Amino acid sequence: MSGYKRFFIQPDELYGNKAEIRSAHNYISRVLRMRVGDKIVLCTQDGNDNLSEIVKIDNNAVYCNVLQTTKGQNESNKELSLFFGVMKGDKNDFVVQKAVELGVKNIYLFHSRYCVSDVSDNKLERLRKISASACEQCGRSVMPKVEYLDNFKSVANLALASDNVLFCYENEQTKAFATCLKDCPSTAIIVGSEGGFSDEEVQLFEGTHAQTVSLGKRILRAETASVFVLSVYNALVGD
Ligand code: SAH
Repeated sequence: MSGYKRFFIQPDELYGNKAEIRSAHNYISRVLRMRVGDKIVLCTQDGNDNLSEIVKIDNNAVYCNVLQTTKGQNESNKELSLFFGVMKGDKNDFVVQKAVELGVKNIYLFHSRYCVSDVSDNKLERLRKISASACEQCGRSVMPKVEYLDNFKSVANLALASDNVLFCYENEQTKAFATCLKDCPSTAIIVGSEGGFSDEEVQLFEGTHAQTVSLGKRILRAETASVFVLSVYNALVGD
């Protein structure tokens, strides 16, 4: 079903083999100027792609007939979670967009000791919209979770639930990230913000199955580090 424009709609906008889309009505009819007869793919977060044909457009909704429902082909069956420290300006937008494209299932922005920014409810909403449009653009069928954790203990608690936990630490000299990746059901990768990590934050992971890893001799910018780790993950153990 590549080639068709994709839309995430509310589950109750799809019933049986019909859809009545109010949420994206303006976007479909006015911005994209789609017409009766055009085909689109509708997703409701259940992992399916519903190839649909527009049969009517009025002032309130776009009406479609579903032609074919298939399981989305572009979701990985591995659970990849990215935790990253909140950065300044629009770098968070950039990392969320790239994380979606690179197949991350759970995106957690966190506050830590050396973070200088936080995430308001409005900002979080904006990041979720960025995630939704990145999903539509790159052909995903399930929108990743995008959450904000306002304390670093929650990062440890959530991340440690994954099979393989890689803590990217700027002071780690020896253990290379790529050599610590495993082909396993769930992986969590933790990347700090511009300010890096405090000793206490690193200590939270000591004595656990998490590994502190290096991304090489040079210190990468926080946003580069996230894109780097996700790309290497995809190349070595992704599907
Ligand atoms: N201010 C810190 C650097 C922070 S870089 C300092 O000057 O030391 C932002 C984050 O990117 C880091 O917290 C880490 O998670 C990751 N990172 C960047 N370069 C890295 C490297 N060479 N090895 C491991 N992690 C790195």
